[in-house]
Amino acid sequence: MNPLRILFTLLRYLWPGLITLMFLPLAPLARATGGDFAWHTGVLEVWGGVVGKSLKKGIPLFGSVAAITLGHVVAGYSYACIQATRRHERVHVRQFERWGFFFPLVYWLAGTWCFLKGGRWYWDNPFEQEARAAEQRGHASQHLRLIK
Ligand SMILES: [Zn+2]
Repeated sequence: MNPLRILFTLLRYLWPGLITLMFLPLAPLARATGGDFAWHTGVLEVWGGVVGKSLKKGIPLFGSVAAITLGHVVAGYSYACIQATRRHERVHVRQFERWGFFFPLVYWLAGTWCFLKGGRWYWDNPFEQEARAAEQRGHASQHLRLIK
């Protein structure tokens, strides 16, 4: 790997690093309460246990969620949820890498802007639209693979 690539990879992790660090304890918490965690394609995936139960119960602004991205940590209700939402959540990981520590604020501002314009805070949020578009492309390519 060339030094410039190593530097960019390091920056991708450091820029949202504080948020990743804040949510790292979810991994041992999930494991200690019946869930688990694993490293997958550069992201720490955490599922089940009290983490999963909390996501199912609901979080502010989102309600009940299957999975959520927090820097380079993705927490999900179950491993099935982690798998089903991986393409979508990886877009949010890239968004965290782009906006770093400021992503939650930028995301919130974008949702609020949509809401003030008469749209839906979550569904019309451009960051969610980007993630859903990637999901759709994934489904389309899966269908093509099945057809071939
Ligand atoms: Zn999303």
